[in-house]
Amino acid sequence: MQFDELNVVVREFCESRDWGQYHTPKDLAIGLVTESSELLELFRFKDRTEQSELLADSEKREEMEDELADILFFLLRYADLYDVDLEAALERKLEKNDGRYPEDEYTGSNKKYDE
Ligand SMILES: [Mg+2]
Repeated sequence: MQFDELNVVVREFCESRDWGQYHTPKDLAIGLVTESSELLELFRFKDRTEQSELLADSEKREEMEDELADILFFLLRYADLYDVDLEAALERKLEKNDGRYPEDEYTGSNKKYDE
């Protein structure tokens, strides 16, 4: 499914439950952060090996995928309600990041552009 199709699925899901009244930009942003925290919680106190083991465990992997889906849900809902073209926004941000992180300087580096 493309963004447009996913937007329709999410929109219909929310409209059939009359959830639009709760979907202010602030509350959708809170949803994004909350779901991101739930994703992060799965990896809390786990070293790199334990993180790999978690991803290899089918039950835990499904939990991780559920949290990613929750994040996507809020992202799509936000973009749909507040007229954000996610593809255009991503392309524009990647261009900005390309300027901030030129390949010849940042390949293999995790430094922030302003460090
Ligand atoms: Mg969740």
